Amino acid sequence: MTILVTGAAGFIGAHVCKALLARGARVVGVDNLNDYYDPQLKRRRLARLTEHDGFTFCQCDIAEQETFSSDVLGNPEEITEILHLAAQAGVRYSMEDPFAFVKANILGHVTLLEFARRLPKLRHFVYASSSSVYGRNEAMPFRESDRVDHPGSFYAATKRAGELASDCYQYLYGIPQTGLRFFTVYGPWGRPDMAYFKFAEAIMRGESLTLYDGSALARDFTYIDDVVEAVLAVLDAPPDGCAARLLNVGNSRPTAVRTMVGLLEDALGRKTNIQVMDRPAADVESTWASIDKIRDIVGWEPKTDLADGIRRFATWFVEYRETARHG
Ligand code: NAD
Repeated sequence: MTILVTGAAGFIGAHVCKALLARGARVVGVDNLNDYYDPQLKRRRLARLTEHDGFTFCQCDIAEQETFSSDVLGNPEEITEILHLAAQAGVRYSMEDPFAFVKANILGHVTLLEFARRLPKLRHFVYASSSSVYGRNEAMPFRESDRVDHPGSFYAATKRAGELASDCYQYLYGIPQTGLRFFTVYGPWGRPDMAYFKFAEAIMRGESLTLYDGSALARDFTYIDDVVEAVLAVLDAPPDGCAARLLNVGNSRPTAVRTMVGLLEDALGRKTNIQVMDRPAADVESTWASIDKIRDIVGWEPKTDLADGIRRFATWFVEYRETARHG
């Protein structure tokens, strides 16, 4: 069993690769190591993977067709699963550079689907979508059957485009697929562009931090280990027939961002000043996953309490910051 993982040096990708390698899989990782955030962090995540014999890595771009030639990725006949996590993320950044999102999230997704069509032994193509596709929905919690016609950001529009492309390829070519709509994933080795990471940095530096909408803003914060369990369970359970499958992966316990900041302050042992600003149009007020569907299909439930997860993140963060400062 060889699994092709795109975005292998990313936050979720590196954690999932580690778990796959621990259970004896062969993993071919792909990532372009772009500099949207600190490439050094991506290299450090990768270093934890390259120590395994079962891991091979290719620094290349999923939007380039040459990436998927056999001399780059090895024998395509051996690939049984694709886990497609590479993407240009960042809700607000998608207003600054929409073309980067078209390239990675639409062209990259379709290039990979075209590759998947040529794989004789492919059992399952699992790809990352996002809670952001629910956009301006007001009904809570978000269910997979909800209409998703109004993305609130260009990032969300490109993730929805990926879902539609996958749906079409499943119907036309019978590629068994599952799209996972992740809800605000956090934890050790996380992303420096995400709010919880920026808040931790501001708290450590003694700087004040900016909260949008004061106490109204809420997110369904989902701990990375729970996400890894969900991904592995889904990977092992391809859908029957050719119905497109989309599953929420969230904690299903929305929490005010202000509360999360308080947990970070407790875990880091420092207090901070908070400035309140109006929420940018692209940021939705709250997210909340219904997880009935994934629970029914693979029996997955999140296990990590937010206070515990934030403590584990904070412990890693303090240590990582020290190592990064000393090279
Ligand atoms: P990440 O940015 O840490 O990982 C994505 C990786 O993809 C990066 O290492 C990047 O270098 C790589 N990449 C980007 N464009 C590429 C390209 N054209 N070719 C090859 N590699 C490329 O993000 P993450 O948090 O690990 O997210 C993984 C997936 O989950 C993404 O698809 C993201 O949209 C989705 N997602 C994440 C969250 C979250 O809270 N982390 C929430 C919803 C959805």
